Amino acid sequence: MRATVYNAEMTPALPLAADTPVCLPGLLDTPADDFRAWLTERNQPSMRAAQIRRQIFANRAESFESMTDLPKDLRPELARSFALFSTRVERHLTASDDTHKLVLRLADDRMIECVLIQDEGRATACISTQVGCGMGCVFCASGLNGVVRNLTVGEILEQLLRLRNLTRSENDPGRPDLPTRLTHIVVMGMGEPLANLDNLLEALEVAGDPKGLGIGARHVTISTVGLPAKIRRLAEVGKQYHLAVSLHAPNDALRTRIVPTNEKTGMSAILQAADEFFDKTGRQVTYEYVVLGGLNDRADHARELARLLAGRKAHVNLIPWNDVEGLPYHRPNDGDLTNFIETLRRSGVSVKVRKRKGSEIDAACGQLRRKAEAEAATRGTTTASVV
Ligand code: SAH
Repeated sequence: MRATVYNAEMTPALPLAADTPVCLPGLLDTPADDFRAWLTERNQPSMRAAQIRRQIFANRAESFESMTDLPKDLRPELARSFALFSTRVERHLTASDDTHKLVLRLADDRMIECVLIQDEGRATACISTQVGCGMGCVFCASGLNGVVRNLTVGEILEQLLRLRNLTRSENDPGRPDLPTRLTHIVVMGMGEPLANLDNLLEALEVAGDPKGLGIGARHVTISTVGLPAKIRRLAEVGKQYHLAVSLHAPNDALRTRIVPTNEKTGMSAILQAADEFFDKTGRQVTYEYVVLGGLNDRADHARELARLLAGRKAHVNLIPWNDVEGLPYHRPNDGDLTNFIETLRRSGVSVKVRKRKGSEIDAACGQLRRKAEAEAATRGTTTASVV
């Protein structure tokens, strides 16, 4: 079976390398001791494990067969026993600004999304942590059907590897401005990262390892709806991860309408946990604010937000809402957005508007997966893009 790359217009383009059958255990989710035991049973030295990891993480290997530094007989045996990647590329969209969006099909046929955003000298992976999301934010596509399950460590790592393998390779002279590795990670795909914190932290540990992907903690942003106990736990980890808290409203009444989990949590508990995160890590917290036309974009809201954040060393990231088919919200109009920004700035709040990247494929996070799932369901068969 071969997955197919689609361009932004969704026309079939280049075929990708054949993927591994999905029923085998994923290598990246196989405990190191089990893998060493597997090697020992075959009279192989345990350093083979490091050799294979180097192939995957440093050399971009996507099949055991391509690992030419391994004994010839071992390669097919590995391929019979493990899936090098447990995920398959269901869709691959590319935009003219070098943004790539992947829908990955997991071994249990669920689908997730991840995105590569590239700029001069910067390549950011936006990754998912759950299938679906249980937070139910009313404007978001990811949570429309609730949460199905947490992603495994291997599934989180595979997103990073798949995206890294789309960055320019060392010997590709074209576009010298684009990096040849991932430089940043934003955990802003599907799911609530802090609801899958253990697996996320384990994956980020590998991502940060120089023998892994070498992406330092300061270049990793974890975005949360705001789970106070988990924010505190994250602070305890002793890493310099950047925390982004999705606020979306300046008061509890409005926030509960937009982010239903707020009813139980309440904003003051979230802000307090975020303050503690700052005290403990010294890392300034970013507050995300999805701007929904006519709902939370009035100058009064901006003034109230400024009062709420007064005295906090905080930064606000405004995200004009990305349309989600079937949802009754609107992008803010330009005048209202400018006014909102100016009001915050006049009150001394540091604020930025998130740039729109890959706009032609940008179907807000979680939407592409829904489309792919719906198509697969209509056909009642396997993948949309497998030929
Ligand atoms: N569960 C995490 C990660 C969500 S995705 C969290 O709540 O932070 C990262 C950000 O994108 C969040 O702030 C989320 O609210 C926002 N987002 C989700 N859907 C969006 C949409 N359609 N338009 C704009 N921003 C959206």
